[in-house]
Amino acid sequence: MSYQLPKRLQTLVPYQPIEGDYRIRLDANESFFTPTPKSLEEVKNQISTIPYHRYPDPYATGACQAFADYHQVPASNVVAANGSDELIGLLCGVFFDDTDQIAVFEQDFSMYRVYLETYGKRCVTLPKCADLTIDIEKTIEAIQAQNISAIIFSNPCNPTSIGMTRADVLHLVKSVDALVILDEAYMDFWNQSLLDVVTEYDNLVILKTCSKAIGLAGIRLGFAIANDRLIRVLRAAKAPYNVNILTQCYAEILLSDPDYLNRCTTALVQGTASLYQSLVVLQDQYDVIETVYKPCTNFVYLKSSQATAIHTALLEKSIAVRCFKEYLRISCGSPVENAAFITALSDILKEGLV
Ligand SMILES: *Cc1c(COP(=O)(O)O)cnc(C)c1O
Repeated sequence: MSYQLPKRLQTLVPYQPIEGDYRIRLDANESFFTPTPKSLEEVKNQISTIPYHRYPDPYATGACQAFADYHQVPASNVVAANGSDELIGLLCGVFFDDTDQIAVFEQDFSMYRVYLETYGKRCVTLPKCADLTIDIEKTIEAIQAQNISAIIFSNPCNPTSIGMTRADVLHLVKSVDALVILDEAYMDFWNQSLLDVVTEYDNLVILKTCSKAIGLAGIRLGFAIANDRLIRVLRAAKAPYNVNILTQCYAEILLSDPDYLNRCTTALVQGTASLYQSLVVLQDQYDVIETVYKPCTNFVYLKSSQATAIHTALLEKSIAVRCFKEYLRISCGSPVENAAFITALSDILKEGLV
């Protein structure tokens, strides 16, 4: 055999979600809300009339319009994709030359680096402060000094749950020539979005997903919003029929109930605030929990030197959260799930299992 894989692909490993069946899943930042019976009834009626033998609308016009109406952006500046993951991959693969340097933060959403490295792009890691916030002036300096072509980051951040203000992000966008890819996957839970001004900048793309606040991780749908020039490239570069006909049908119906979506989001914000409060109470009692970060998202991030042991002990109680070295990330579940998690965690800490 003489075919050699490119070096960068030789060590690639498939993404591994946690395995096993756990009673309570607080590991993936999904919403615990499901669509209303009324909207599901509507979906049921619609999908019996879908032209399954035809390709879907290549621009998912109805889904983009429903999203645009929900977020009050022009539909002509929206591109739909198979989850925002597809858009991250597309941006990383298409927008840069091999000599371009693209900046990511440490810590941030791990897929940015995965896509950049898979596509053989040059990735520069910019540090965050010790408290996991971002120093905006240092970031701007680094982009200019290192001649960086683009920066991609999540705001509010997954996994830290910390947000940067709208003023700071705008300052960054205005201060650099680099393309700013702003992943607002969790901005529904906070109020510092740049969606209302995105089309005014020629170096800004915002990514949104239906997988978190909208509660539709299963249908795989995400959006990019940008000015005409960037949107044209994304439309031209994407696979023609990237969003399937069923997802388009679901989206048109389920995104058209803003009152319900807003109520779910509000409940998730409140649930996350009380999950945070409960964790702060445990932090006061147990030194092993070092820091609990105030969340701008639907999850709470905490620092503990015993994170791995706590993670394992929770799994033994059939509760899954996400562990990143000495940090734990806990998604907001239903009130019952959150209470079960807090009880399990305080039992673990009380019994000194860790
Ligand atoms: C969950 C998540 C996504 C992925 O969203 P999909 O639309 O499900 O692909 C993108 N960015 C961040 C920061 C996320 O946490």
